[in-house]
Amino acid sequence: AKEKGRNQVQLFENGMNIRAVNMMKISGELHQALEKNQMELYYQPQFSLSDGKLVGVEALVRWNKPGAGLVYPGDFIPLAEQTGMILPLGQWILESACRQLQLWHARGLGPLRMAINLSARQFRQPGLVQDIASLLDKLKLDPESIELEITESMLMEEMEMAVATMASLSSLGIKLAIDDFGTGYSSLAYLKRFPIHRLKIDKSFIKDLARENEDAAIVASIITLAHSMKIAVIAEGIENEYQLQQLGRQACDEGQGYLLAKPMPAEEIEPLLCQDFRY
Ligand code: C2E
Ligand code: CA
Ligand code: CA
Ligand code: CA
Repeated sequence: AKEKGRNQVQLFENGMNIRAVNMMKISGELHQALEKNQMELYYQPQFSLSDGKLVGVEALVRWNKPGAGLVYPGDFIPLAEQTGMILPLGQWILESACRQLQLWHARGLGPLRMAINLSARQFRQPGLVQDIASLLDKLKLDPESIELEITESMLMEEMEMAVATMASLSSLGIKLAIDDFGTGYSSLAYLKRFPIHRLKIDKSFIKDLARENEDAAIVASIITLAHSMKIAVIAEGIENEYQLQQLGRQACDEGQGYLLAKPMPAEEIEPLLCQDFRY
């Protein structure tokens, strides 16, 4: 039994090493990916549901990994978060998205809002607000056209710091959206403490909307409560007509999803930004 115990410890330690080695390997790969320009932002349109107009885009990162094709963020963002690579990567994302928006504005496209996802580590990074302020200043970009998406869990841990960071961002004029809303543990009562401009209803609630189950009730109550607090609502993951109709009936302000438009590279989305594009 003693022998077996020792073997198990050994195995466990080897397992840890493999994990650590893997993390270092991926961290190095991500570092290279940034240097070699293998990261790319895709943009998914966000539409007003009252008139169908394109009002904004969400930047979504992809990795053009040689030999592996397009790698989706679910396969590297969590690792980048663990290794700390999310900080340089997140900085690149912020800068690239802002530059793209400036380019589009300079060409007369828009007015357009750019939604950018922030990771937990980025959000807690001291200097984030200053970095963003200097970036917007450098690019002469209107802060009102930038929306940062953060998740509920990022608000709930170290709440005082979260309140302070959001207050600073908000005083710059930047908009703040709560992503994946409804999946975390925050209650709407907490939201009063934060300067929030938009709730993004998580796609898991939109998925089963057609079945008229609890999800329909949850979505309806999120919208009603948000509106009573003067917070706008966007639904993500709209994949069919029924969901779109239902959300429209419930006075959901905006929507995003494959039914309306997929995430696209910058060149592909440009024709949609040109005129008064509606879904
Ligand atoms: P998210 O922020 O909740 O982004 C929405 C995800 O839903 C995106 O996946 C998008 O492509 C996908 N989606 C859009 N429309 C539909 C639809 O109709 N149905 C379904 N089922 N899915 C839809 P993606 O691009 O793979 O991103 C996954 C997650 O990775 C994001 O979830 C976000 O948490 C993270 N992520 C993506 N880009 C960034 C980034 O630039 N920075 C950070 N920190 N995280 C990012
Ligand atoms: Ca998001
Ligand atoms: Ca989301
Ligand atoms: Ca998500």
